[in-house]
Amino acid sequence: MMYLSTRGRAGRRSFEEVLLAGLAEDGGLFLPERWPALDRDRLEALDGADYPATAAAVLAPFAEGCFEEDELLAMAREAYAGFAHPAVAPLRQLDPSLWLLELFFGPTLAFKDFALQLLARMFERVLVRRDETITILGATSGDTGSAAIAAVAGRRRMRVLILHPHERVSPVQRRQMTTVDAPNVANVAIRGTFDDCQNIVKVLFNDAAFRKEAKLAAVNSINWARIAAQAAYYVYAALRLGCLRRPVGFCVPTGNFGDVYAGHVARCMGLPVHRLLVATNRNDILARFFESGEYRAGEVVQTSSPSMDIQVASNFERLLFELVDGDGAAVAQLMNRFAQERGFAVSSRAHARARALFEAGTADDEQTRATIARWYERTGGAVLVDPHTAVGLAVAERLRGTSSHPLVVLATAHPAKFPEAVERATGRPPPPPVRLADLFARTERFTVLPADPAAVADFLRSWQATP
Ligand SMILES: *Cc1c(COP(=O)(O)O)cnc(C)c1O
Repeated sequence: MMYLSTRGRAGRRSFEEVLLAGLAEDGGLFLPERWPALDRDRLEALDGADYPATAAAVLAPFAEGCFEEDELLAMAREAYAGFAHPAVAPLRQLDPSLWLLELFFGPTLAFKDFALQLLARMFERVLVRRDETITILGATSGDTGSAAIAAVAGRRRMRVLILHPHERVSPVQRRQMTTVDAPNVANVAIRGTFDDCQNIVKVLFNDAAFRKEAKLAAVNSINWARIAAQAAYYVYAALRLGCLRRPVGFCVPTGNFGDVYAGHVARCMGLPVHRLLVATNRNDILARFFESGEYRAGEVVQTSSPSMDIQVASNFERLLFELVDGDGAAVAQLMNRFAQERGFAVSSRAHARARALFEAGTADDEQTRATIARWYERTGGAVLVDPHTAVGLAVAERLRGTSSHPLVVLATAHPAKFPEAVERATGRPPPPPVRLADLFARTERFTVLPADPAAVADFLRSWQATP
């Protein structure tokens, strides 16, 4: 399988190159040249397969030329063995037609573990093969940083350095990063905002000499391998709900458009997906796009679902490429306009296409709180969802209408990860899962630095000099 850039000016690339590079050199995002077919026969063969086998089968055609399916299966078995539920991605029924797909049994209790646990193992294999080392550099306001650290800690040939805004991430999220005791993990708290952190990462990546010297790599949500890995749980869940016999839909709490786009990928491959609902919090750039055809960034507002507090949905560029019939020059032009004017509108034809593929809705903090409370009370405390999942649930309940087809809400994080928001809704803090039990007893390690790329570069150099 070979890959092209959404901006049409990078060469064809192999999976291995796409895995390591993340972004294409023309600034675009990688997409496979064609969709591998997941036809009825293959779906029937996968019906009843366990999670790692499903993941390996979905990934195999994308990773062709880099990993064989048995290698992928070995990596997937190892990656998902650490999940705290034997089904890895269990479905939970809420009412006759509404389901939760619980994606929070990984080491950091959010769905990002699904892709990153596998990605770290892919990186390691490729780096050993090439006799190379890398340092993963990223900025985080929430779940990606901890998932990357948990996946990379203790692995060979990789270091990971994560920047977070000093005193501006939740104590649970910070401690999930700073209490990991491994020599290949470092945390830096930047005296500034999340945007300052992201800006430092951008400056260091754009410095070609430094990037090469420090062997920098990224694992942000535009990495194609992350999307492909996430497509697997759509296949797994849809098959379990009988998608070969009846329509199954999904509703996905959305920020960067990565997770719900993975559902679209599964559908493009041939998985029968009846509906894909995009659920946003008040940072609703995507909901507004599906409504009006105009993609325009607003001000980022802080909500109770912080991992979705985003006004630029990076993976949207992949959908845009499809909406303009794969015209890379048109995508580049629109994205340049977005960079300059913070927005653009697509043609009415492209807008109609987008609306045929996705439906969208928004839930504000009050609706999110009320949704957590309503399910908690209705079920006598048995169903307790985190605020991100609650955004999805609120939108699913609103948009499902009178349909009796199964609709699956992706439960993207464990409620104990967001204890303040959950307590505001239910009146009591969520019980901590075993994984978090000693989190507040562990020692934290991080370095506080000013919001200055040079300071981070110096820190990184001296850290890399230590074994
Ligand atoms: C990252 C994240 C999201 C948003 O996922 P995208 O792929 O960015 O759309 C939703 N919920 C949680 C808990 C997350 O960590």
